[in-house]
Amino acid sequence: MSESVAIIGAGVVGLSCALEAQRQGLQVTLFDRDAPGLGASFGNAGYLAVELIEPLSNPRTLRAALSLWLNPKSPLALPVRYLHRIAPWLIKFMLAAMPQPLQRSRRALLHLNRASIEAWQRSLEDIGAREQMVKSGYLLVWESVRGIDAALQHQAWLRQHGIDTELVQGARLLELEPALAGQVQHALFFPEAYRVRDPQTLCQHLFTAFIERGGQFIQQRVTQLTPSVNDISVTTADDAYCYDHTLICSGAWSRALLNQVGIDVPLEAERGYHLTLPRAGSLLRHHVGSAERQFVMGPLDCGLRIVGMSELGGLTLPPIKRRFELLRHHSRQLLPTLNQETLAQSEWMGYRPTLPDSLPVIDQHPDYPRLCFAFGHQHLGVTQAAITAELMIQLMQQRQTTLDMSAFSVTRF
Ligand SMILES: Cc1cc2nc3c(=O)[nH]c(=O)nc-3n(C[C@H](O)[C@H](O)[C@H](O)COP(=O)(O)OP(=O)(O)OC[C@H]3O[C@@H](n4cnc5c(N)ncnc54)[C@H](O)[C@@H]3O)c2cc1C
Repeated sequence: MSESVAIIGAGVVGLSCALEAQRQGLQVTLFDRDAPGLGASFGNAGYLAVELIEPLSNPRTLRAALSLWLNPKSPLALPVRYLHRIAPWLIKFMLAAMPQPLQRSRRALLHLNRASIEAWQRSLEDIGAREQMVKSGYLLVWESVRGIDAALQHQAWLRQHGIDTELVQGARLLELEPALAGQVQHALFFPEAYRVRDPQTLCQHLFTAFIERGGQFIQQRVTQLTPSVNDISVTTADDAYCYDHTLICSGAWSRALLNQVGIDVPLEAERGYHLTLPRAGSLLRHHVGSAERQFVMGPLDCGLRIVGMSELGGLTLPPIKRRFELLRHHSRQLLPTLNQETLAQSEWMGYRPTLPDSLPVIDQHPDYPRLCFAFGHQHLGVTQAAITAELMIQLMQQRQTTLDMSAFSVTRF
């Protein structure tokens, strides 16, 4: 009989792991307190950001941190009500910017991201949903005149890491993205970049394939995990179950479950915001990121999605309204057509699961290896979900992993 596995969390990471576990012959039960794909995996930008290999904690961020925090238009926010809670995390975040750990995180991100697109292609092809991933290209733009220096410097740095871009200006920029405001002066074009058609639809496709292949979904909150050497008990408000393996993929909520099994990880909820404008989806041809304003806009099937903000505010504070205003302000500066007040738009806030070194945890419990972990994908959970799933199930089945896993250890903090 095949071995059984429970996966806790039906976000893009849990869903990808569930499918990969089925492919490798495991009998899978997926738990989520909500319908699948309604956590951070619902409202993200859907961009496969392979080129994001610089950890959030780096000397540049640290140098700018105070002025960013004091600037009301900054993409970085630390609500005063949460300051006392975040202090220990901030110390770890600063330590992660030291030369050695920074180099290690950068290398691990590079390897994970490099493998991510092919892993998605394998996963989506296998379930007949290849069209959910689109080679759309990406533009990283600058408005200031001196932005050209930053663009050239960034281009050279990316080239060193094997990522090719084209510097575009003037007529070429206008040809690529005609709706952008004239004040946008320079851009780096990433012709090889991919996006998904729509993050929620992607999760629905993964979930449908999982169910069609005999997967079981239990919509209940997991309240207790009890590991032993041979199996893991999973308890919900209504029932108790037992599995050969259990995998925690609970995104920003993973820390509480880990605490129950004797592990503490400095996992924070890094809050991000979005606006979605259903009738403005055709305004852009590519995802466009602003290097100076630090936000991203992209055309998805559900409309134009505008995302941004990095707010270290935990899991309980309500969304802060002025963050949506800031996204509105920035997007209208870059896309003047959005100045029509009548354009309908929805607002959303979600929780990125973020560790101080910008790397996920993909690992097994040091004492109970049948209990596994895949969470903490911060800004890159959609990008890294399929490769995480492959690596995680390799580990679970004690096979040789295709990447060195030491940087993703659960005990590294
Ligand atoms: C504004 C914004 C924009 C983003 N843009 C991008 C992007 O363009 N590209 C990219 O790669 N990434 C992006 N991200 C990051 C990405 O969305 C996340 O990293 C990713 O969705 C995390 O997926 P996950 O499955 O780990 O977590 P989630 O999607 O949050 O799923 C966790 C699930 O666990 C469930 N759960 C938690 N605790 C329990 C429990 N005790 N019992 C049962 N169920 C439980 C929750 O209900 C939830 O469904 C963005 C994030 C935000 C907020």
